[in-house]
Amino acid sequence: MVAEILAVGTELLMGQISNTDAQYITKRLNDVGVNVYYHTVVGDNPQRLKDSIALALSRADVLITTGGLGPTKDDLTKETIAQALGLDLVLHECSFNKIEKFFKRVNKKMMNNNVKQAYVPEGSTVIPNNNGTAPGCIIEKDGKTVIMLPGPPKEMIPMFEESLFPFFSQKTGQIIESKMLKVFGIGESEMETKILDLIEAQSNPTIAPYVSHGEVVIRITARCEDCDVANEMLNPVIEKIRDRLGSMLFALNGETMEEVVVGLLIENDIDISLAESCTGGMLASKLVNVPGVSKVFQQGFVTYSNQAKMEILGVSQQTLDSFGAVSKETAIEMVNGVVARTKSRAGIAITGVAGPDSDTDGRPKGIVFVAVRLDNEIECIEFKLNGDRERVRHMACLNALNLLRKIIINRFEKQ
Ligand code: ATP
Ligand code: MG
Repeated sequence: MVAEILAVGTELLMGQISNTDAQYITKRLNDVGVNVYYHTVVGDNPQRLKDSIALALSRADVLITTGGLGPTKDDLTKETIAQALGLDLVLHECSFNKIEKFFKRVNKKMMNNNVKQAYVPEGSTVIPNNNGTAPGCIIEKDGKTVIMLPGPPKEMIPMFEESLFPFFSQKTGQIIESKMLKVFGIGESEMETKILDLIEAQSNPTIAPYVSHGEVVIRITARCEDCDVANEMLNPVIEKIRDRLGSMLFALNGETMEEVVVGLLIENDIDISLAESCTGGMLASKLVNVPGVSKVFQQGFVTYSNQAKMEILGVSQQTLDSFGAVSKETAIEMVNGVVARTKSRAGIAITGVAGPDSDTDGRPKGIVFVAVRLDNEIECIEFKLNGDRERVRHMACLNALNLLRKIIINRFEKQ
């Protein structure tokens, strides 16, 4: 199978950005047994784009384009490809709803040209974009496959890894076994530095780090004759990565943080209750997404006001007056209160400023105190989180779960 990569964007031709998308895609296509014979770069010009599409389709089985899927007038990849293939653009409801939700979440007005991004050529398979608004798509017509991906690598790479890598593996019939490792508590670039020599030294299995949904992911892929051999190839690499990243590596099979923590709670027979302020029940909601959680989850309280913190959790007026609702002292009294009230072995309390503004005591947005208790052991950490209200709350939950995870591992797995 032969593929060709067509990168669309005047910025690339002006030398303002490098064509790292083509480099990435080519490397991963090679990993899955697809040959790439040509890379083309074309500006945002409909006629030249049309000519490049025709040329690519005359000599390759698969054409992959990057860029030009944005909402503005110069983003014309989809329109031009649809025209070249004689296909109409149709509204993809699910993408439309996702875009609408995205704008609601970031509190911005959705423009008419954003609706344009939800249109795809008729009969195409949509590739969801979890890190941006423009979906990608796969069109199969007259024995050729055309795939469109957005330009920003932060969107393109997860889409490639999550949807296209399996697509090609199926097409080429190569046995590909991959593991999705997840890392928490370290940025993408720092993590990459820690394992760069491993990434560079490996060609089979390959190691591909990327960020998806704000999570740092490492995909390890082995190509071989059968699945048993694949696992023999994958395990030593996973061990090496585990040596480098220690307990920051929290999942070996793509599990979510909440799945991992609920697993640990069940395994060690620990029940849990929650006291949430700024996360407003989000942590409880994450936990109850995990099947089987009822074995360990007792109660969750949303104690948003000072009064609720005092009445339900027994936080003292004096603590609130002296240190404020968003403080280490309050978080600790909250967790002690919830554990005393529910008799659970484990408790998590979260209090913070989700933003967008500072709180009434003048604490800046993104400050969050998480207190975790397991039996008589208590840990409280102050986090400074970035992002909008939704993200601060989401990250507060993940950090809280991660703290509990570490406490449990230290206690039970080092014995
Ligand atoms: P957007 O919705 O952001 O407009 P798009 O799919 O329309 O996405 P472009 O407008 O072509 O993509 O490019 C947006 C940004 O993505 C560029 O400014 C650049 O940072 C990055 N980008 C685009 N093409 C490439 C490429 N081939 N390699 C690396 N980065 C790229
Ligand atoms: Mg664009």
